[in-house]
Amino acid sequence: MRIVEVYKEFTFDSAHYLPNVPDDHKCKNLHGHTYRVRVYVKGSIDEDLGWVVDFSDVKKAFEPFEKQLDHKLLNDIEGLENPTAEMIAVWLWDKLIIKLPNLSKIEVAETPTSGVIITKD
Ligand SMILES: [Zn+2]
Repeated sequence: MRIVEVYKEFTFDSAHYLPNVPDDHKCKNLHGHTYRVRVYVKGSIDEDLGWVVDFSDVKKAFEPFEKQLDHKLLNDIEGLENPTAEMIAVWLWDKLIIKLPNLSKIEVAETPTSGVIITKD
């Protein structure tokens, strides 16, 4: 059977600082990013519908978390007290897996050249 992976991309703008880095590390200072998130869902193509998942269902699943994160100080959010890209990916994974059982991968990019990927083991 063919397995197809689809994704939907989101962006949000947030402020953060990294509390656990040394004082002279620039990320200790409050600053912001336009985060780019890709949510991947893997499965087979439904014969009737011709898709793996309705993109709008992925959007609906992500929306409440986008609201929680967008234009916020991430450090204030429960579970994101140390909001590295890795921790944001884990935070999103633990929430989205409940709504999207076929969730296969989440990418979180902090800048156009830096990001993380979380997948199932
Ligand atoms: Zn940063």
